[in-house]
Amino acid sequence: MTELRRDDNFQWTGEEVECASGIHWAIAEQANGIVAIIVNSPGGILTGKQMRVLAEIVGEDGVIKNTRRMAPMLLIPKEKVGAALEQLQTVGLRVANLHKSVRNIAACPGKGFSSNSRGDTLGLAQLLDEAFYGTILPWDFKIGISGCPRNCTGVQCNDLGLMAEPRGKYSLWIGGSEAGMSPKHGTLVQKGIRHEQIIPVVKRILETYTAEAEKLEGELGEGARAKLYHVLEKTGFERFEQAIEEVLNNPVVK
Ligand code: SF4
Repeated sequence: MTELRRDDNFQWTGEEVECASGIHWAIAEQANGIVAIIVNSPGGILTGKQMRVLAEIVGEDGVIKNTRRMAPMLLIPKEKVGAALEQLQTVGLRVANLHKSVRNIAACPGKGFSSNSRGDTLGLAQLLDEAFYGTILPWDFKIGISGCPRNCTGVQCNDLGLMAEPRGKYSLWIGGSEAGMSPKHGTLVQKGIRHEQIIPVVKRILETYTAEAEKLEGELGEGARAKLYHVLEKTGFERFEQAIEEVLNNPVVK
């Protein structure tokens, strides 16, 4: 089984961001010369203290735009980027990654907030972020979590979607894509996954995805899109179903 590797080392050169492992970090000059920094915030959660620092970074009349992945994007002049990166660290914030890793995890408010919710969403988003932030993957990988079938996060439109069921369990979809020329819904692969089984199951999906994309490198061609759904189309859904079953049947995880 392919071992997942992580790399959150990147450098801001004063002109651009560089990362040896190929992960694209969310610091980029825009068409108007302003630099955008997307801040990692699983489930879109920030504390008041963190919000205050974001406001300090952009200044009184500066702009913070929310992205559809529930992460704030700071718009600042290039010369302020170095200082902004230091200010983010003081309140435990990290730059989000855009490509070749797990994107900012989207989650609805879930248990404790929404009266409809069947289970935890924000705690799970945090756990998944801790487990997989900076993991090197064949393409970008989106995870969405909804607390009930009203499905405010649109879990089927993510590479991996989780929806809370009653009694602390979750349903899992894989292979969705919300954007691009061919958006698609993911496929329901498993119901009844317990909260504590989710990290090992997602880990195995990422390992299987990485291993299968490596095998398909020649077939997909250099620079080809190796999104999860492309890999699923080539390998077949059963390969992933089997990998998930193996984890769920492992006595340590069971
Ligand atoms: S998906 Fe359900 S739990 Fe989550 S915000 Fe929407 S209604 Fe509430």
